[in-house]
Amino acid sequence: MKVSNFPIFTQKDVPSEAEVISHQLMIKAGMIRKLSSGQYTWLPIGLKIIKKIENVIRKALNHIGCVEILMPSVQPSELWKESGRWDQYGPELLRFKDRHDRDFCLGPTFEEVITDLIRKDVSSYKQLPLNLFQISSKFRDEIRPRFGVMRAREFIMKDAYSFHESQESLDSTYELYKSAYTNIFQELMLDFTIVDADSGNIGGNESNEFHVIAETGEDDLLLDNNLNGMNFEIAKLKYKENDIQSIIKDTGMVHKKGIEVGHIFKLGQKYSESMKAKITNKDSKIINMFMGCYGIGITRIVAAAIEQNNDEKGISWPKPLCPFDAVIIEIDGDKNIEIRKHSEDVYNSMLKNQLDIIYDDRKVSLGNKFKDWELIGLNNIIIIGKNESINKTVTYKNRKNETKEEMSIENMVNVVRG
Ligand code: ATP
Ligand code: MG
Repeated sequence: MKVSNFPIFTQKDVPSEAEVISHQLMIKAGMIRKLSSGQYTWLPIGLKIIKKIENVIRKALNHIGCVEILMPSVQPSELWKESGRWDQYGPELLRFKDRHDRDFCLGPTFEEVITDLIRKDVSSYKQLPLNLFQISSKFRDEIRPRFGVMRAREFIMKDAYSFHESQESLDSTYELYKSAYTNIFQELMLDFTIVDADSGNIGGNESNEFHVIAETGEDDLLLDNNLNGMNFEIAKLKYKENDIQSIIKDTGMVHKKGIEVGHIFKLGQKYSESMKAKITNKDSKIINMFMGCYGIGITRIVAAAIEQNNDEKGISWPKPLCPFDAVIIEIDGDKNIEIRKHSEDVYNSMLKNQLDIIYDDRKVSLGNKFKDWELIGLNNIIIIGKNESINKTVTYKNRKNETKEEMSIENMVNVVRG
């Protein structure tokens, strides 16, 4: 990609409502722009990072036998009335009518829609277990949207659902998701922990949350030495104590702030019972299916990753989230044909080596190009000016350790590959 075809939207100023560093940097680096409260447009650089996260998730879920589908975001109220949540969910559920005066809502979560799908197509234990997921926009009319995409009203979530003939089958699948999630957050190089959690609006009898540890997290976690533990919500119930300090005194646990990036639930028969999702089991008995559901907040991960990976220059992406493998910064290519030609050659040879490269061919000063790419957070910076075009070399700069070295194109390709 060349910047002439791949617009970057960096800017100096941030609105005063951007309280946390990730929100500020996402606006400065041109990843997002606000449409209205809790709603953001994802610009090219931001969307590229989302796609990287999505692909890590897709691969890990396919690996445990979970297959992708896509459900409509506008959901008929009839299903929510069947499950009982039309009355229970409260004002976070955005409701509206169509031209025929029928009630609908914008999907905040999809237990009803998927249970309806499966009850129509599955009737025997022979078709189970079954695992499906989707990656789509969810809408929750949050009372206080804040921290940019961290607590938005419209956000991208991966939601997976599993269906079983027995509790034992659900239990073993739940463990598969737990380890798939662990692999996903490890692969994304996030510093995270798994805690016991409350099932909230979704329901069920057992759940775990995955938290990225960060000062700006909205959740209070109580953790032991190995960073295992529970959400404060659970600790309150368990120790019958409303005060974190007292629980810490009683248990010796430590208090950390977390950003909830994933949440898995054993739903049991909650939805299959109310929505009559039945199967014939091995003993020819008709029973309600057992279900699990498994969410990951994809857009929230982007903000959480930035909270953990930033410095005075901007974002410092871990490799798996970095929007490009490297940037080519050309100096005066618009004025000197030899420099332009050498830059094009380097660019093409990097493409041939399967590297994902952005080539900054703008008529902008070297200083400004540097600032932009250090802000956006690429670690590998390739500089091409007069010297390099004469020597047929490049100058390689590493954002993290600030080293700078002139080298051959072959060497640079190897360094960038890592
Ligand atoms: P929270 O406690 O943060 O409100 P939740 O427990 O209501 O979240 P779940 O129903 O568990 O959320 O949804 C699955 C995942 O979707 C969450 O773990 C989180 O990563 C993400 N998510 C939930 N609400 C939002 C939001 N308003 N903005 C961005 N991501 C969200
Ligand atoms: Mg949750």
